[in-house]
Amino acid sequence: MARMLTDYFGENTFNEATMKERLPGDVYLSLKETIENGEELTSDMAETVAHAMKDWAIERGATHFTHWFQPMTGVTAEKHDSFISPAPDGKIIMEFSGKELVKGEPDASSFPSGGLRATFEARGYTTWDCTSPAFLREDSSGVTLCIPTAFCSYTGEALDKKTPLLRSMDAIDWQASRIMHLFGKTEVQHVNVCVGAEQEYFLIDRKKYLRRDDLIFTGRTLFGAMPPKGQEMDDHYFGAIKERVISFMHELNEELWKLGILAKTQHNEAAPAQHELAPIYSTVNIETDHNQLIMEYMKKIATRHGLTCLLHEKPFAGVNGSGKHNNWSLVTDTGENLMKPGKEPHENMQFLLFAAAVIKAVDEHAELLRMAASCPGNDLRLGGAEAPPAIVSVFIGEQLEDIFAQLIENGKATSSKQREKMSIGASKLPYINKDANDRNRTSTFAFTGNKFELRMVGSSMSIADANTVLNTAVADALMEMADELEEAENFDTAVLELICRTINEHKRVIFNGNGYAPEWIEEAKRRGLPNIESYVDSIESLTFPETIEVFERHNVFSRAELEARAEINYEIYAKTIIIEARTMIEMASRKFIPASVKYSGTLSQSIASIENVTVGKDFSAAEHELLGSCCKNINAAVRALDILKTRVDEASAMENMKDKALFCRKRIVPAMEELRKPIDELELIVDSRLWPVPTYGELIFEV
Ligand code: ADP
Ligand code: MG
Repeated sequence: MARMLTDYFGENTFNEATMKERLPGDVYLSLKETIENGEELTSDMAETVAHAMKDWAIERGATHFTHWFQPMTGVTAEKHDSFISPAPDGKIIMEFSGKELVKGEPDASSFPSGGLRATFEARGYTTWDCTSPAFLREDSSGVTLCIPTAFCSYTGEALDKKTPLLRSMDAIDWQASRIMHLFGKTEVQHVNVCVGAEQEYFLIDRKKYLRRDDLIFTGRTLFGAMPPKGQEMDDHYFGAIKERVISFMHELNEELWKLGILAKTQHNEAAPAQHELAPIYSTVNIETDHNQLIMEYMKKIATRHGLTCLLHEKPFAGVNGSGKHNNWSLVTDTGENLMKPGKEPHENMQFLLFAAAVIKAVDEHAELLRMAASCPGNDLRLGGAEAPPAIVSVFIGEQLEDIFAQLIENGKATSSKQREKMSIGASKLPYINKDANDRNRTSTFAFTGNKFELRMVGSSMSIADANTVLNTAVADALMEMADELEEAENFDTAVLELICRTINEHKRVIFNGNGYAPEWIEEAKRRGLPNIESYVDSIESLTFPETIEVFERHNVFSRAELEARAEINYEIYAKTIIIEARTMIEMASRKFIPASVKYSGTLSQSIASIENVTVGKDFSAAEHELLGSCCKNINAAVRALDILKTRVDEASAMENMKDKALFCRKRIVPAMEELRKPIDELELIVDSRLWPVPTYGELIFEV
């Protein structure tokens, strides 16, 4: 009999229900205190929790446990230990202590530390993040108990993405609670950040994937001519899902549900072979873990279906790339969503103040936000061939725009545009209530009714960085506001005045128009908004004096941690580009050029044969023309290849990471483009039977 989803949902997590069932009452309550209020966890308590967790895991077949963490590589890391311990009679017992639960010490010298730790100081610590439930991972190696942890150096600096995120959650919790208390809501003890991350991805046939070095080594195609059909028919978006893909989605959902992940929505995306999964939102640190698991399981389960999941931001030129929409809101522990405008938003000073704080934060830290949502792959979307643009702006919709206009003009707002009833025109169809605002898909940061949606994040990235920046920036804006309002004589007038002033000061970042239009770039320039075209140029924003100040003020990052992160980002950027360039060199030299030379040989032979039996060149004119363009492109490819090789050698010899990254951006990326052009031309000339790799058409249409 099929198992009911309601029965198996979350069965592989040590969630609240399991804790309640398995822990002594007092330990359960103290652990809850730790999770909710950060009360210290005693070693006795840890011992009891470890014991219960071990029994639970072993009953489900676990043999190993691991501290699961998120180093600055952006992916997850783990080292497995088995529970076994020798017993005197030659047998074993299964052990797992409180110490092992709370602290791990991976020899972590090979993780990027950006200079925070020299290799001879190899110690790194992982510490249990009890706010994110431990889970069991089932795969062919058996069952492993995974304990979400934070990762820091011997001297306490964060070496991961989780620690700063948790710190930023504390910062915004503190500042947002101050504001809530000022509004008289003293029962609010905590304000949590809630995030729902929509994940886009591609699925292609695994056998074809394995025939392309570029996909294997870099996650994207570095060559490839456009097939006769791309996404222009819009027939993939929301289209019927293919059998093989839906069976992948089905298994993925089941695995995610067992892990307590609220997988909710799935559909085909704009590009052929592109899809999306959206879970129901959770607290941001849990969502961050869940998103990592979603990505991991997508890759793993795809393989079981003979598919490969590509999470790269731009696996194929010429069709849409993938992103991650980060839906963000603030919710109190009393259940109030602070981003919800209510029926009469113009009267809702609390909402307007929080919205103004978000707008101020985004305007003041636009560069940082752009940086935190970027990675080498995302450069091919942001500011590249495709939207969203690299300019950070906020879409607020008609209703708020109208209220803000009233506030700026009159110092107060007296009305809110209301949603309308709409008839679709056919008598049998029901009336629908229109939302007060339409959507704007071109905006980088959009207010969507009860949350803000950051649309810039790359599909392969952890959502931790973007949320760390967003939380801290908003915490800082709220702090300034709380400082001012706590001193105010008349709270109501002070709030109204503060809202008007904030919006007036930061209105330049508000943009409700088409973010894809070239005029917006001009307009943004006039408004003084930063437009940083490439990721590598945005990295320096990590060490701007104002960045260091704001992060230090809220104890999210120290100067040393920020400098380390900048260094790591430069390093990752340079390494990524160099690997891509080397892959291109290899593919061009050993695959595409030989195939093209072979074809030109065939052409020459047919020319000779034709001219042998005919008189004059008239009869072989077409072959001559073909041979001409073939040779022209082979020549161009060989020249471009030489240039690219020289530049890669030059870059490889560079020591300074920032110089190296900038060199990659300015000198290697263009050289890669120069090599791609003639090869893509050749793909359209050379006999398809000789072409050494599957083409775009085969990759994205034949799934
Ligand atoms: P869309 O139609 O833009 O995809 P949805 O309403 O389906 O929007 O939501 C997309 C994501 O936003 C989902 O992950 C959803 O759970 C999340 N979401 C909804 N409300 C909130 C909220 N208040 N805070 C954070 N995320 C939210
Ligand atoms: Mg969305």
